[in-house]
Amino acid sequence: MIDLHTHTLFSDGCLLPSELVYRAKVKGYTAVGIADHVDFSTIDFVIPRIAKIAKQLTSYYQILVVPCAEITYVPPKQIAEAVATARTLGAKVVIVHGETPAEIVPGGTNLSGILAGADIIAHPGEISESDVKLAIQKNVLLEITSKNGHCKGDPHVAKLCKKLGAKMIFNTDTHSPENLIDEKGVKKILKYSKLTWNDFLQMQENAMLLLEGIKHQ
Ligand SMILES: [Zn+2]
Ligand SMILES: [Zn+2]
Repeated sequence: MIDLHTHTLFSDGCLLPSELVYRAKVKGYTAVGIADHVDFSTIDFVIPRIAKIAKQLTSYYQILVVPCAEITYVPPKQIAEAVATARTLGAKVVIVHGETPAEIVPGGTNLSGILAGADIIAHPGEISESDVKLAIQKNVLLEITSKNGHCKGDPHVAKLCKKLGAKMIFNTDTHSPENLIDEKGVKKILKYSKLTWNDFLQMQENAMLLLEGIKHQ
């Protein structure tokens, strides 16, 4: 399992990076991304620390740990600057906290994230057809999530991505240990989203290709 969207104590997750990563390894994960919520008040504090520990844990626990970031509730007009700043500070994968049906995320967040060239729009909820088309052009992955609440948007996201040919990625948005997923959990979400096991394999492949791109940075 490659899962590029998890949280630690550096935002609202309940585990230290070390415990999260070790638990993921025991669960059979091959790669985990730590994508703590950041805005301009925390971005320069969080990302360098995650980048540092990711390197250590990758080497000692033999699981690929990817320093990521989830740009969260940043005003849409500042999202491009936030994405660029996150990369400069060491985030290898930059996620934008999209317009989930579970919250009141500012309108225009999905679009601004796509235009900013984020790698992933997390839980994009009722994303529009034009935004999905733009995501295809900009090579931005749209997330299918197993997270409670956020996953209510999965059927819509899956349907539009399949219809228009956009690339999806499967993530857990783990905040606590029980959010880390196994095959049974994946199948439950696939069924709910009307996706197949082959779609899941394609999503894992999309995650792998994203990581391949990072290697060459
Ligand atoms: Zn989020
Ligand atoms: Zn998240």
